[in-house]
Amino acid sequence: MIKLNALRILFALLLTCTCGYSYAQIQEISISQPSNIQSSFQFIADTSSKLLIDNILTIPDKQWQTELSGSTNFGITTAPYWLRFNLKNTTEDSLILIAALDYSQLDDVIFYEFMGVNKLRELATGDTRPFYPRDVDHPIMSLRIKIEPDQVKTIYIRIQTDGSMILPLRILPENLFFSEAAKEQKLHFFYFGCLTVIILINFAVFLTLREKLYLFYALAIAGYLLFFTSISGYSFQHLYPQYPIVHERALLISMPLLAFFSVLFCREFLHTKKHSPKLDIALRAMMYFEVFNFFSALFLSYNTAIMISAISALFFFSILFVAGPISWAAGKRAGIFFTAAWTPLTVGVLATAGRSLGFFPENFMTQYAMQIGSGLEAFILTLALADRLYREREDKIEAQADSLRKEKARHIAQRSLAEAMVLDPNTRLPNRNRFEWMVNKQIQQNPNGRYLIGVTRITRIDEINRTLGLTRSERLLKHIAKQMTELAKNIPSVHKIVDTSGREERVYQISGDCFGVLINSNALRNNFDDIKETLKKICEPVVLDNLAIDLHPKFGVAAYPNHGENAAVLIRNAHVGMEIAPHTMQEVGFYSEDYDIYSESRLTLMSDLREALLNNQTELYYQPKVNLITGEIIGLEALIRWHHPERGRVFPDEFIPLAEETGLITIITKWAFEQGIKDLASLLVEYPKLNVSINISARDLIYEDISTIVHTTLKRYQVDPTCLIIELTETAAMEDPISSLITLKELSDTGIKISIDDFGSGYSSLSYLKQLPATEIKLDRSLLIDVCSSESSKVIVATAINMAHSLGYKLVAEGIEDEESAILLKEMGCDMLQGFWLCHPLPMDKLKPWLKEYRNIF
Ligand code: C2E
Ligand code: CA
Ligand code: CA
Repeated sequence: MIKLNALRILFALLLTCTCGYSYAQIQEISISQPSNIQSSFQFIADTSSKLLIDNILTIPDKQWQTELSGSTNFGITTAPYWLRFNLKNTTEDSLILIAALDYSQLDDVIFYEFMGVNKLRELATGDTRPFYPRDVDHPIMSLRIKIEPDQVKTIYIRIQTDGSMILPLRILPENLFFSEAAKEQKLHFFYFGCLTVIILINFAVFLTLREKLYLFYALAIAGYLLFFTSISGYSFQHLYPQYPIVHERALLISMPLLAFFSVLFCREFLHTKKHSPKLDIALRAMMYFEVFNFFSALFLSYNTAIMISAISALFFFSILFVAGPISWAAGKRAGIFFTAAWTPLTVGVLATAGRSLGFFPENFMTQYAMQIGSGLEAFILTLALADRLYREREDKIEAQADSLRKEKARHIAQRSLAEAMVLDPNTRLPNRNRFEWMVNKQIQQNPNGRYLIGVTRITRIDEINRTLGLTRSERLLKHIAKQMTELAKNIPSVHKIVDTSGREERVYQISGDCFGVLINSNALRNNFDDIKETLKKICEPVVLDNLAIDLHPKFGVAAYPNHGENAAVLIRNAHVGMEIAPHTMQEVGFYSEDYDIYSESRLTLMSDLREALLNNQTELYYQPKVNLITGEIIGLEALIRWHHPERGRVFPDEFIPLAEETGLITIITKWAFEQGIKDLASLLVEYPKLNVSINISARDLIYEDISTIVHTTLKRYQVDPTCLIIELTETAAMEDPISSLITLKELSDTGIKISIDDFGSGYSSLSYLKQLPATEIKLDRSLLIDVCSSESSKVIVATAINMAHSLGYKLVAEGIEDEESAILLKEMGCDMLQGFWLCHPLPMDKLKPWLKEYRNIF
């Protein structure tokens, strides 16, 4: 910062030309009281630098010049200056006085004490000599003089110095000198203490934060400290009194050091590189200059070095004076602080200069203006750094909070993504991925366990979508999901896992309309009651917006390890099981490889069947049906037979379900109508009352224009439609109840009879049954197996017969294998009978002789 010395030199240069001095007799300072001694002296410049004290004594009075104020500045001169003055004690006491040259930088000072012409003492001191011995232990050059009442002493002082010849003479009583010196020392050391604290704090902050800014500041303040301790002479006195050369260079290097680090600090503090590039260039140039200044301070002569420092000070001071306002103007908060800090320093420097130039009075404020200014500057900048620390901490906290917020948002996003990957967006049930993962994990953990994979599909969901709209059907699915989850809770064998958020998982949504569970077979222990109960509940209509909605769920099951080793296969097979399930309510389709149309052998079987139908490898067998009342053969049921060239005989139960799934059934049906009506036509010639029953499937009703096919075929063979009976199961009709009803009505309207097949094998809806335009109902074999032996079976059969009759249908008993059953059924009022007891299904060539041979059995 301020180069006090350098400035003084600059001012001295100005002053030397302006000062004038008067000539006089030797100046006598008479001391009447021991305080406030008005100093004044006479002086002479020894331009030859050769004069000794003896020569000086001979110099005539008129060559001496007088300085009444006791203080003057001769500028930079290497010529020795001689001062002289008389001291006269006019008091009544003997006095001890201190004559001091109040400028610590003087190189070579020799005091001569005379009484009259007698030289009493000679004291050589000054900066170029070791600090001690001194008359007074103080950085300024001083002489202790003892003077008795009425005594007159003459003092000569020879001063030679590099740098400024500043000679402020003070004469004062010893006690006064020491009390003033003590006061001044206190102030100085308070100031040095403050600077030291600032240095230590900033250095500590640097060590903790590792931010260069604080180090630069600490070093800049250390430069100040070095400068002020050097210029005041205290460092010389206390640190290296034996090494005057160190003292000299310490002062010189303090200036480039404080300037260099101040500039560094300024650049860092104001971010000049970013905001004021031009200023930054100037500051960088300044730094290079200070490096040069530093080396010149180390190696060049004192005077040259001091000149360089003076020039540096001028630039340095000007640049830093504008740096603050420039940054301030650029909108930098730091700029305000910097300006605020630099202003007191400016004032301090100007006050010091003003005092030196005589514009300002000599007082405490002007004397210590630089110290006060630099102290304030250091204080304000320390505040600024504290502010900056605070702000940075705030920023850091803000940034941390921000990154926490971001982290949280990322976490939420990740979680919802993870959820989306395992949860159904609508029902929030874990999805197929999760199901597979869970099943695989369970199998891995317990490979020897036994499990069932249960799946269910809401088969009417498309229809519900169409009728209710997507939003409502989504609500419906939600409702179903909730219901299933609740129901699953009551089944201990349903496997449960708890996910990371503590949610229990039991029911999984495999697809839009499909749900799945994992059942622990061991926990089940063949107790299917609660499962049956649950399935029943699932089959119940769901009430949504006051509408009772029938879901028509289908159920399928695959077992581990029999039906697959991993989740994907097991889930697939459970679906296969579901699709091949008898299409009755609450019935669960168990997977069986035999029905798996997707298994390789099944697929080849289907392509073989397609070929077989074209190449006459299939044929219709006919099973006769007897009227139990008249005993006549009234009809024949056409049943397909397939002789596979390699596999031999393949039974309908093996390939019909497959054909239904693959769509091949429609070809079979067409073929059956073609073959059956053709055979019927030939039979009608001999047995004109005979009819033939042909089986159809659900698909035939949905996908084929069955009535056109039937009528064109009937027409082709000129067969009366009343001779044809179409057999289908109630479940088949129920697959699409409305359009089935329409188709069946269409057929029956033309005289074709409709027969309800397999009655009693599954779910039956009386209300639907009533609407069907059927003429007969075929009682399923499963109901009749133990009709003779079981009372309850008898009751069921009797009820069925009653019900059929009350609805106006004729009743056919199917699969009767023994006479006992036949007789019982006749007694119970059954209308017709079919079964191995009467006759096995026969090919046409065997049927005709059988019919011929048949005698009325009752
Ligand atoms: P279904 O319509 O219930 O046919 C009666 C089944 O019972 C026939 O089996 C028949 O051979 C068998 N059966 C008759 N009397 C007895 C008996 O006293 N005891 C036993 N145990 N069984 C008896 P089949 O021919 O194997 O046919 C099985 C199923 O395949 C049929 O059941 C029917 O649903 C279907 N089917 C057969 N041919 C056709 C066809 O041409 N078209 C369609 N769509 N399905 C057919
Ligand atoms: Ca049948
Ligand atoms: Ca049947």
